Amino acid sequence: VKEKSDGPAAHWPVQVDVALVHYPVYNKNQEIIGSAVTNLDIHDIARAGRTFGIGTYYIVTPYRDQQKLVGEIVSHWQDGYGARYNTDRKEAFASIKICDDLQSLYDLAAVNGHKPLVVATSAREHAKSISFGAMRQKIHAGAHVLLLFGTAWGLTEQALAGVDHMLPPISGYGDYRHLSVRSAVSIVFDRLLGRREE
Ligand code: SAM
Repeated sequence: VKEKSDGPAAHWPVQVDVALVHYPVYNKNQEIIGSAVTNLDIHDIARAGRTFGIGTYYIVTPYRDQQKLVGEIVSHWQDGYGARYNTDRKEAFASIKICDDLQSLYDLAAVNGHKPLVVATSAREHAKSISFGAMRQKIHAGAHVLLLFGTAWGLTEQALAGVDHMLPPISGYGDYRHLSVRSAVSIVFDRLLGRREE
């Protein structure tokens, strides 16, 4: 069966990047740590990013050994056996960049010197939150947006203080909201970038 071809509207030019932040984050005692990179986070978020038209997937960690690990995983799927074995995954990994910390992330993500709108996510409520609908409209209107996701027990207050907007926590009708970052990323991408049923 011939796939329904995507119309031009299906590829409206969004400028949305995503960052998975491993430092500064909290541990369960609310101490500031740098968390380890999880292999599944690299794969799943890269695939979700490719699905929803994300530009660059930044992996933020200050640790050289972690940066080396990510580099090895990416090159396996970009140039190594993985690339030959699974071209879909090769395509998804094309968007990955590594950086040390939030300042270098913002410098790297800037386009012609213009820093993107930095939008963070959290399982907790925060004062300066913007609705998914309003953020979706900004993206449709061409805003360059950088979405931040945390690891461990979430982004630190200091990191959140420096962002432009917070998205509301994804929630059901109970008060449990502790999603894996992979689940949260896919839900946020679909709400902001997913094609709606006509
Ligand atoms: N390694 C852990 C894992 O993946 O299960 C990391 C958990 S980490 C704190 C989860 C991150 O996903 C948060 O920093 C936030 O960016 C996002 N997240 C989790 N639950 C969420 C929710 N209910 N609403 C919005 N974002 C959420």
